[in-house]
Amino acid sequence: MRFEILTLFPEMLEGYFSSSILGRAGENGIIRVGLTDIRSYTKDKHRRVDDTPYGGGYGMVMQCQPVVDCIRDVKKGLEGSVRVVYLSPQGKVFTQQKAKELLQYDNLVLLCGHYEGIDERIIELEVDEEISVGDYVLTGGELPAAIVVDCVSRLIDGVLPASECFEDESLSDGLLEYPQYTRPRVFEGLEVPEVLLNGHHAKIEEWRREQSFKRTKEKRPDLLERAEGDR
Ligand code: SAM
Repeated sequence: MRFEILTLFPEMLEGYFSSSILGRAGENGIIRVGLTDIRSYTKDKHRRVDDTPYGGGYGMVMQCQPVVDCIRDVKKGLEGSVRVVYLSPQGKVFTQQKAKELLQYDNLVLLCGHYEGIDERIIELEVDEEISVGDYVLTGGELPAAIVVDCVSRLIDGVLPASECFEDESLSDGLLEYPQYTRPRVFEGLEVPEVLLNGHHAKIEEWRREQSFKRTKEKRPDLLERAEGDR
């Protein structure tokens, strides 16, 4: 799968995608993450990409010309299906389910706003969908874009060592994951639950299912209510 991130600050994200699990997936050709500098598309002689808002008000708004030209040029280089996503606090809030849905596209073009955001006509002309990473406001769309790439990538075959890594974990089935432990068996007087030490797989499975349900009820009862509402 190919991700193309369009941003005024590509340097913010360079290190993230060349490190750890995503860095390896990139080296192995499982994913490809491109970073394009929107400023390189401006036709303004001072290389400006933003201007004051019509009607007055605080801050600067990213202009149509460089952003629309950038999106169209990047799309020209893509093969297969393309989804253009604008990262925005006004979008639907990103979830594990949305990450699964985005897997159907061959390419995701992720547009990062900055300052007061982007001219509305860019959304009308070129954006398929707006995604928010939560009900709070950040200075730019770069971290949200990295969140979407990270979350979608780990669902792609070959990025993690085995599909169980994500099939079994929090939110994949609407519940939180059970508690995890590793060595030592006792730490500062706290012991690993006995059931995990006896090698009885059916009992371990049962304990994990119970714990999963219990902690979802304690920490995120809204998830259980949502699952009941969906039924
Ligand atoms: N004035 C805009 C508004 O009220 O909707 C907010 C602009 S915000 C300061 C600048 C940029 O950060 C946005 O264009 C968007 O790309 C990004 N951004 C901020 N919060 C975000 C969120 N919760 N999810 C996704 N992107 C966000």
